[in-house]
Amino acid sequence: MDAPDAPRTDAADATADAFALVGNEHRVAILRALLAAHADPETPYPTSFATLRERAGVDVSAQFAYHLDALVGAFVAKTGDGYRLRYPGWKAAAALAAGTYTDQRAFGPTAVPGECAHCRVAALHASYGDAWLTVACHGCERVLTRYPFPPGAAAAHLDDGGVDALLSAFDDRVRSHFALAVDGVCPECAGRTRTALAAVDDDASASQTATRGDGHAIHAVADCETCGNHLTLPVGCALLADPRTLALAADRGVDLVDRPYWRLPELVGDAHVDRTGTSPLEATVSLDADTTVTVTADLDVRHPGD
Ligand SMILES: [Zn+2]
Ligand SMILES: [Zn+2]
Repeated sequence: MDAPDAPRTDAADATADAFALVGNEHRVAILRALLAAHADPETPYPTSFATLRERAGVDVSAQFAYHLDALVGAFVAKTGDGYRLRYPGWKAAAALAAGTYTDQRAFGPTAVPGECAHCRVAALHASYGDAWLTVACHGCERVLTRYPFPPGAAAAHLDDGGVDALLSAFDDRVRSHFALAVDGVCPECAGRTRTALAAVDDDASASQTATRGDGHAIHAVADCETCGNHLTLPVGCALLADPRTLALAADRGVDLVDRPYWRLPELVGDAHVDRTGTSPLEATVSLDADTTVTVTADLDVRHPGD
């Protein structure tokens, strides 16, 4: 029976159709113009045919109308006041604005503040290229954090406030994405992630996993069942997804919030982690001499007294 495959085929066709719909420079210009109108308080949104045509820079009215009509439905909604982006259109336009598919920007390695939790050498460096931002230690050659950052957005942050501004945005992005993934939601596609604790060989640095965090004995991992997104992070960093632990740490004077993500291992890295179970795997993380939280095999966090 091929019935179970039918929806998948339909979905694949629909996706191919959706990509085909925007495979034209005028349609791309229309999506960009609608996004710009949405972001600009001076421009009415929904946006009229005439204003949109002017902003999209399409000279021939009939040609503009033809391409706009093609987008209405899947990507654009036509209302009594004009045109506005539907969610898939906004996603496509936002990806174009972020430069995910086109821009190229690179920098580094550039020295950044902080000491490596592994080798205790102040030799942290950030670099960016091919849409990936990496913070690594030049003392022990370990990658501390590595995660994608859209190139157009990276360029905007770099132009705005230099490497510091980009690193600040990167820190926010990594924190929120990893917390989502550890909570069971894929930060790329919103699909369901399977989460677990995993023991890591030290040679895991050879693997091309998304996020790294080399040199840690125990990682939290999140795998997306929908898009295959695979995230690994030091187990101590998984505590960021647990509001109770954040409150407990704050109460103990342990700053897990303001410190850059790649420097968290100084506070909750391997020196603070003990393996307390093997089958199932379980670990404890010490916040201070008297305060320990437990992370179970499926990433539940238990506090003393639970
Ligand atoms: Zn190091
Ligand atoms: Zn996903």
